[in-house]
Amino acid sequence: MTATNSYDTYGLKEVINASGKMTILGVSKVADEVLAAQQFGGTHFFEMSDLVVKTGRYIASLLNVPAALVVASASAGIAQSVAGVIGQGSQLHAYHPNTTTVSQREIILPKGHNVDYGTPVEVMVELGGGRVVEAGYANMCSAEHLAMMITPATAAILYIKSHHTVQKSMLSVAEAAAVAQAHQLPLIVDAAAEEDLQTYYEQGANLVIYSGGKAIEGPTSGLVIGDADLIAWVRLQNKGIGRAMKVGKENILGLTRAIEVYQTNGSETGTSMQARLAPFIVNLNAINHVSAKSVQDGAGRDIYRAEVTISEPASAIAVIAGLKAGKTAIYTREYRANIGIIEFDIRAVTAVEMEQIVARLTELLH
Ligand SMILES: *Cc1c(COP(=O)(O)O)cnc(C)c1O
Repeated sequence: MTATNSYDTYGLKEVINASGKMTILGVSKVADEVLAAQQFGGTHFFEMSDLVVKTGRYIASLLNVPAALVVASASAGIAQSVAGVIGQGSQLHAYHPNTTTVSQREIILPKGHNVDYGTPVEVMVELGGGRVVEAGYANMCSAEHLAMMITPATAAILYIKSHHTVQKSMLSVAEAAAVAQAHQLPLIVDAAAEEDLQTYYEQGANLVIYSGGKAIEGPTSGLVIGDADLIAWVRLQNKGIGRAMKVGKENILGLTRAIEVYQTNGSETGTSMQARLAPFIVNLNAINHVSAKSVQDGAGRDIYRAEVTISEPASAIAVIAGLKAGKTAIYTREYRANIGIIEFDIRAVTAVEMEQIVARLTELLH
């Protein structure tokens, strides 16, 4: 399978990804069975509308939700969901959520959820014809704050479930769902990187969006699950703005298979990560200016990472630059570099790669 090596063909750098599921590095690697499904998709023809509907139905039955739809990415899922709730399946507006005759296009979003995940959430909302209306404050949003912003122009409430958002003093998905239900509005949850494919729908969201290449470890794609009528509105956008974000047959089949594998095997447990981290942490602590320990994910997910504090006169920022500049580029989580901390996310890192990381750090910090 490795007959041609694209690193060599195009003069690209090999990468160790200790940063997590990052778009800038290609998100994740797919399993052989997912590749096989992609290959089948790439080498056969299908009645495409049937493929979209029937894979959606299959995924919905796997997840025990009313309906599902494979889209090009979680970003496309946000844009198409917003367009869908604005168009509401009407033949007049369905294909073009920006038509001026639409009176409900406001999307209410807790202010602390208006983040940039690589692209601002707002860009996807506007792509779908929506206008963001922020609720609450940068560090606080309650059910009352959300309800206060609802007007006759409101089309939906959007909730971003992510480590990128402000975590403290924020209402829960269930509380946002209660507000949406009381006002007969749909609640859209962007759970792009989250691991549980059922809980947000169960908590009352009407549409829930996932990124195919993150927790699910599928190909570049996205998944929208939810109420049957709303999913039909979102699917209608395949003939509207969704055409500019078309997902191919190979990735529709690849994601469907990846969801099946993911539901069977789950993702690596925190306990397993801690076990794999233990020798890595011992070796890290033997390096000059390094103090390492295992820490749980800040958003409380079952993910453990190596937290490395770099002591003076060495600097975390310089070490991060040095790790990227090596023959093999090593990418880490840099969010706290300004306070001297580097995090290593080992979900996509093998034991051999951990040894390479230790060797490179030793070289940089001798
Ligand atoms: C990654 C991410 C997205 C975008 O996912 P893509 O599939 O890359 O478009 C959207 N929202 C959040 C919170 C994310 O973390």
